[in-house]
Amino acid sequence: MDTLTYDAVVVGAGPGGYPCAIRLGQLGVKTLCIERENWGGVCLNVGCIPSKALITAGRKYEEARHNFDEMGIVLGGAPTLDMGKLQAWKGSIVKRLTGGVSTLLKANKVDQLVGEAKAIDPHTLEVTKPDGTVVRVQAKHVVLATGSRPIEIPGFSFKDEPVMDSTKALALAEVPRRLVVIGGGYIGLELGQMLNKVGAEVTVVEAQDSLLPGFDPEVTKLVARACKKSGIRVVLQAKALGWEQAEDGVVVRIQTAAGEERLAADKILVTVGRRPNAEPWASALGLQVERGQIVVDKQLRTSVPGVYAIGDVASGVMLATRPPTTAKSSPRSSPATPPSTMPAPSPPSSSPTRRSPPPASRSTRPPPRATPSRSAASRGSPTAAPSRRSRPTASSRSSSTPPTTACSASPSPAPTPRTSSPRPPSPSRWTPRPSTSASPSTRTPRSARP
Ligand SMILES: Cc1cc2nc3c(=O)[nH]c(=O)nc-3n(C[C@H](O)[C@H](O)[C@H](O)COP(=O)(O)OP(=O)(O)OC[C@H]3O[C@@H](n4cnc5c(N)ncnc54)[C@H](O)[C@@H]3O)c2cc1C
Repeated sequence: MDTLTYDAVVVGAGPGGYPCAIRLGQLGVKTLCIERENWGGVCLNVGCIPSKALITAGRKYEEARHNFDEMGIVLGGAPTLDMGKLQAWKGSIVKRLTGGVSTLLKANKVDQLVGEAKAIDPHTLEVTKPDGTVVRVQAKHVVLATGSRPIEIPGFSFKDEPVMDSTKALALAEVPRRLVVIGGGYIGLELGQMLNKVGAEVTVVEAQDSLLPGFDPEVTKLVARACKKSGIRVVLQAKALGWEQAEDGVVVRIQTAAGEERLAADKILVTVGRRPNAEPWASALGLQVERGQIVVDKQLRTSVPGVYAIGDVASGVMLATRPPTTAKSSPRSSPATPPSTMPAPSPPSSSPTRRSPPPASRSTRPPPRATPSRSAASRGSPTAAPSRRSRPTASSRSSSTPPTTACSASPSPAPTPRTSSPRPPSPSRWTPRPSTSASPSTRTPRSARP
């Protein structure tokens, strides 16, 4: 078996992993980034970016149907939607961005390896490549950025044709006539709203007593109002029991306070939360885990020296735009040996005394994590909730510009050399970062609970 040796290895190339790998490359650390599926991870391929592209199109389609006429914009007849073309357009945006990730990694001297990684020990991984061959990788530092996956609930297998996770919903070849969304979090709502705008009759079933549990009640109110206005039915405090084939589509059975109700549908979208891809790593390496996520300190160090975790798999809100950590310096119950620091970067040629990290030039800096737009909030879009910062919405940008309503993950293709030295991490004690219990994405699926 071949063995590759690196200073740092990043597992996963989503918005947690690839900017980390790029930064390591910029710091002169010999880095390998391993990805088993798609460069760009969930966010760029089947998350923030494609969903915002479809939402943009849905909004424009709705405007064309309802508002253009009264504004005096006359289209020679009612607009129609070509779903195939819409999917191709969305695919072109995804392709452009994910291609940019690979280019950026390369430009910053990060080696790339396609394959599924597993841990042997904290400094050794084995990677199974698509052709079945296995490579051993050894590294002083391992960063786990393995993300998360949708949660399935009993009675609603994603293998069954009418049952969809968010990935399947983003790839629909046609608009379902009737859609039942199970789980009123931001993913279900934004996809439900988008499909409603392009003609689906939508019912949202939520186990708790409000939509977007865990979000600011002001935002929840706006979203509930927006749903009502657009004819989306919301059933709160209801548990999804199962589904069965009907003569015309399917029937979803739900339990409400008033008793069992049967909802007619053609497709069922299950969006009850996402599960961090932490288990195999945690058990192989003995990492501390809380609520399914790997516990990390302020510097994203896990409980095992030399192993770091970032993104959905690490404690905190499961969003590409996660707020900065607010960890307090509470000592661990059993004091950890501080992990060794990363190799010190080579001294800068331009400003040798500078110690703080340079503001990376726009083109070299890894794309910032996603920021839901405020303007979207005022329109009642659920994607707007977690952040106060405002960004241009996809619809406000030209059609040749990738949509960045909620996730400004667009990589810039032309990196420039860095100009000064970053500060190496300080070898402070390991103190776990508190997980955010209010996270809408990490909550346990209510509808799955007895
Ligand atoms: C429909 C949808 C819409 C969303 N919209 C927004 C939004 O508007 N704003 C926002 O902030 N967030 C949004 N999110 C959440 C956002 O996508 C995630 O928080 C983000 O992708 C997490 O990044 P990550 O790098 O931790 O993991 P991921 O993006 O999941 O990437 C992890 C990568 O690791 C790879 N991997 C896993 N295990 C291995 C292994 N063993 N070996 C090799 N590779 C491995 C995976 O293939 C994957 O590519 C959305 C999510 C969805 C599903």
